[in-house]
Amino acid sequence: LAKWNEIPLAPPDKILGISEAFQKDTNSKKINLGVGAYRDNSGKPIVFPSVKKAETVLLEKETDKEYTGIIGSKKYQDSVRNFIFNNSGKDASGAQLIKEGRIVTAQTISGTGSLRVIADFLKRFNSAQNIIVPKPTWANHVAVFTDAGLSADFYAYYDKENNDLDFANLKKSISDAADESVILLHACCHNPTGMDLTPEQWEEVLAIIEQKKLFPLVDMAYQGFASGSPYKDIGLIRRLNELVQEGKIPTYALCQSFAKNMGLYGERTGSISIIAESGSQAKAIESQLKKLIRPMYSNPPIHGSRIVETIFSDENLLSEWLADLDSVVGRLNVVRDKLYQKLDKTNYNWDHLLKQRGMFIYTGLSAEQVIELREKYSVYATEDGRFSISGVNEHNVDYLADAINQVIK
Ligand code: PMP
Repeated sequence: LAKWNEIPLAPPDKILGISEAFQKDTNSKKINLGVGAYRDNSGKPIVFPSVKKAETVLLEKETDKEYTGIIGSKKYQDSVRNFIFNNSGKDASGAQLIKEGRIVTAQTISGTGSLRVIADFLKRFNSAQNIIVPKPTWANHVAVFTDAGLSADFYAYYDKENNDLDFANLKKSISDAADESVILLHACCHNPTGMDLTPEQWEEVLAIIEQKKLFPLVDMAYQGFASGSPYKDIGLIRRLNELVQEGKIPTYALCQSFAKNMGLYGERTGSISIIAESGSQAKAIESQLKKLIRPMYSNPPIHGSRIVETIFSDENLLSEWLADLDSVVGRLNVVRDKLYQKLDKTNYNWDHLLKQRGMFIYTGLSAEQVIELREKYSVYATEDGRFSISGVNEHNVDYLADAINQVIK
């Protein structure tokens, strides 16, 4: 028992700690730009109308709360696979792979759960035991991989001096990585920078991946947030499917989440898909995923996955969801532009704001400036200068721009 007295106090979570401080602030003008969750124009969280409808259907039709399978229901697996790899029929880049039974799709506990499951899977079965992730990346990535026993290292991604992608160093550091390393790629709306590669840049990176036999692990937490359409945001997945079919890249994996694009945050609904070299290899992988997940949490929750199944199996609901998502992304783009217009550009170049996409702006402000925003203006954001623009709306955009203009003076 003596050891229990030696348990050190762990530091609070960086992002959730900000929300706590925000709650305590009594300034009526306070703004929370910390957490990456959608807020509407009045600053409130929403339930997508299409999701509400799906829940109404479930309320009427649901006849059980039985356990789903270890990797979710077949219906969930099939519809998510069809949605991502076949674009619900609109793009068939993965159709052949699906037909050959080469894509294993499992329901997971949202995006974090899928990252942890693939990390444990790689620890067990992959020859390379290291992963390279972009610098910077989502604050939780490194902990997920290292807790699973992989070693994690960074590859260059962003040039903080110039607020731009650091593409030359990105290519160089990927080229310098050990052959066969696992490489984490953000499918779109890179978190935290919002800065993505162009299709031409992806081609160059994919050529290095092919040549060095790296294993691509794609994290797609913001599908739809770049263009407004989930079908347009899967350029990287489409290219990977093609390269796999050409035999240039043997396998890859995709971690995916419906937290943001369906607003299912707390329902913890996502998936892992592993693209295998053959149908029989896929069967073995699927069986091992079950063996891995069963002692961890037995099976995933069912409410969110039934919402997804309901939306994907009804053309009307599917269209409504696509429209809901488009309007969410539209609002974020409107406030992004508004904020840009109101920022003082005399001594500070804000053009990067317009190149960034998704839930965040990566302002380039220093930690000192972020602290000044918090202490003087009750504007709360992480000290790396990442602002979640979902906290910005018509009512507070002027106040926010004025505050930023003061701290950059
Ligand atoms: N990956 C990235 C890049 C993210 O930003 C997030 C959420 N912030 C996740 C994965 C996981 O999210 P969740 O577990 O809520 O699906």
